[in-house]
Amino acid sequence: MKALVIVDMLEDFVHGALASPGARALLPSLRELLDHARREGWVRVFANDAHETGDPELAIWGEHAMAGTPGAQVVSELAPAPGPLELIVPKRAYGAFDRTDLADRLRELGVDEVVFAGQHTHICIRHSAYGALIHGYRITVPHDAVCAFEGIDEEEALEYLRAVYGACVTSVGELLGHRVAELAAAATPLGADYDSGDVLEHEP
Ligand code: ZN
Repeated sequence: MKALVIVDMLEDFVHGALASPGARALLPSLRELLDHARREGWVRVFANDAHETGDPELAIWGEHAMAGTPGAQVVSELAPAPGPLELIVPKRAYGAFDRTDLADRLRELGVDEVVFAGQHTHICIRHSAYGALIHGYRITVPHDAVCAFEGIDEEEALEYLRAVYGACVTSVGELLGHRVAELAAAATPLGADYDSGDVLEHEP
């Protein structure tokens, strides 16, 4: 079972205090990925900063995504539809697994692979990916569903995830394409010479 974990696609990070153009540019591909995850019955998680006064990282970034404020809301383009398979997980630090119940909830739902999307590749995605690693989840990161701050080397950030956390770095098209390949394989008569094995494999 896969879980799509959308990190910090919040008003303050897309339109507000800590907004970057990269975040707005992600919206169409994230929308597509979220629709796909809902259709396919993946678990969906919105891992959202929800800071309280005194949280350590506020000294570095200033106030942002304060719990209960409009800046801490998921952007309307990706409005959550909370339910048994769609979870909202508030966090007070970079990582989605840091002092949250995410690991337990994913385990209960039988998740074994986490697909990360959102921001930022070199901060919260990175720390969330570390959490996924130590809790034993396979990690997938579509490179066009995440972004870093302007001026940060995105390639280097992705390479870190690949090299240190064993993340499979792919694309949204590739993830959506798997579904097309699965349907094609299912429609192919037995004995037909159709090789879908390469397409469906989880890359190292
Ligand atoms: Zn924060």
